[in-house]
Amino acid sequence: MKKRVLITGAAGFLGSHLCDRFIAEGFEVLAMDNLITGDLKNIEHLFKDPNFEFYHHDVSKFVHVAGKLDYILHFASPASPIDYLKIPIQTLKVGALGTHNLLGLAKEKNARILIASTSEVYGDPLVHPQTEEYYGNVNTIGPRGVYDEAKRFQESITMAYHRFHGIETRIARIFNTYGPRMRLNDGRVIPAFMGQALRGEDLTVFGDGSQTRSFCFVDDEIEGFFRLLMSDYVYPINIGNPNEITILDFAKEIIKLTGTQQKIVFEPLPIDDPLQRQPNINKAKEILKWEPKISREIGMKKTFDYFKNLSPEELFKSEHKDFSKHIRR
Ligand code: UDP
Repeated sequence: MKKRVLITGAAGFLGSHLCDRFIAEGFEVLAMDNLITGDLKNIEHLFKDPNFEFYHHDVSKFVHVAGKLDYILHFASPASPIDYLKIPIQTLKVGALGTHNLLGLAKEKNARILIASTSEVYGDPLVHPQTEEYYGNVNTIGPRGVYDEAKRFQESITMAYHRFHGIETRIARIFNTYGPRMRLNDGRVIPAFMGQALRGEDLTVFGDGSQTRSFCFVDDEIEGFFRLLMSDYVYPINIGNPNEITILDFAKEIIKLTGTQQKIVFEPLPIDDPLQRQPNINKAKEILKWEPKISREIGMKKTFDYFKNLSPEELFKSEHKDFSKHIRR
């Protein structure tokens, strides 16, 4: 009998890669998405697979699934500052009410559930690199607060379900991840730079570009999730790539990679933009025997190949600029 897994946010960037992985591993995959930020084109290649089913549903509302369920992966959520500004209430609801519904479903089905948490629980971190023990430095009412606090609540309710109801829970703290199927117009730095390079626009570095991020290629990240789900570790665990770079140096790498003739222009830094971010992944190394394998050079090349193949129509429909000005200092 095949194992059955429910993946929420299945039409999104991470969700769609999870669907591919679980289909490849021989699971029956129930994919769920309300398609607010997800896109069916990310999973349309799976529709012909008899082990794949798609449900168009908002998990902030009661979730019903017929039959048995072995695993749930809750990856439904807007995940970029532009999205939080456009759909703040839905962002709060999917992290809070959605998680509650899925924990209830896990309890009902006796399923193991993995929750997608985030490095945003650390806010603008005062500890560097970030270890799982660090409690974070989050502005509850800033533009990112709707996401950060929903995810912090998500971790709390997940641990409460584990402790009070004995549910098997797993919590992944996801750091910046990139790769094919990132949404071109979500305002995040990689799609933004890729789109700009391909449209022949200047690359917009926010602030002076001295803020840092550590980017993990999606295949590495998915491997980390898979290992975590199959492990018996219930506490939050950082899954990300510790290879840290300033945004300015990263923009220079993108110019080299894409061969664009454009220059770098500086724009104001968004409110509450974390100044530095790098995961400490000692726990993942020790407990999951996991660490990223794909270099930024190789990962970014694969990512550029994806963006290069988008249609001109997709490439030129960019909505994030209208919103980004609202979140600047
Ligand atoms: N960023 C930038 N130019 C852009 C988009 C983003 O310099 O066109 C910066 C942003 O200010 C942040 C970093 O890139 O410091 C990563 O931003 P992203 O939204 O991708 O992720 P997050 O801030 O959530 O890590």
